Amino acid sequence: MIKVTIWNENRHEQTNPDVKEIYPGGIHNAIAGFLKEDFEVTTATLDEPEHGLTEEVLNNTDVLIWWGHLAHDDVQDEIVERVRNRVLDGMGFIPLHSAHGSKIFHVLMGTRTGELKWREADDTERLWVVDESHPIVDGLPDMIEIEKEEMYGERFGIPQPEELIFISWFSGGEVFRSGCTYKRGKGKIFYFRPGHETYPTYYQKEIQKVIRNAVKWAAPNPRSPKIHLGNVEPLEAIK
Ligand code: ZN
Repeated sequence: MIKVTIWNENRHEQTNPDVKEIYPGGIHNAIAGFLKEDFEVTTATLDEPEHGLTEEVLNNTDVLIWWGHLAHDDVQDEIVERVRNRVLDGMGFIPLHSAHGSKIFHVLMGTRTGELKWREADDTERLWVVDESHPIVDGLPDMIEIEKEEMYGERFGIPQPEELIFISWFSGGEVFRSGCTYKRGKGKIFYFRPGHETYPTYYQKEIQKVIRNAVKWAAPNPRSPKIHLGNVEPLEAIK
């Protein structure tokens, strides 16, 4: 069974009553709620020792989901480095929404991923599927409509996605690359845009399906061949 760790800074939930009302157990537990049917799920939060991301936890994680916003700078560099190393070694990584501004996403992308337009004005969002053969859109309609969301607009400061899965349209007129995949080392990464804390986005069935599909896609394959690197003998005599 795929082991998923959901990391959440869990700060808005403590300070903003509107957010607490939508996500009384925190965003991490809302996500855990729909993933635990299919996966072995644990959660971790910023205020736990080592942010809940000890070597042991990460070594037992196939896919790490990340939600952060207010407190990106409070994440210790040592933990960022630890997560990065696990991704390079094959752990899947799914940064959600404002995780675009996190240290770990910056480190993995190598660009200023915090650069984008934004607006909190109850825009309607439509996420259009632009890669219908991709496993992340398995079983989904060709467009997901979210009645109200925060707007994110281009230009988004990411490197060119290796695969672009969704493009969002917003009712205020902007567009955004909302579902992007990358590989870093042996690890697969899927950035997924929706999920502003004052909207109940993570209760929407299609959004849950995207995240569920993304976990399956990003998990390391236990049957992958072991590739031997470094200095090697020739397979036959070299003439
Ligand atoms: Zn937001």
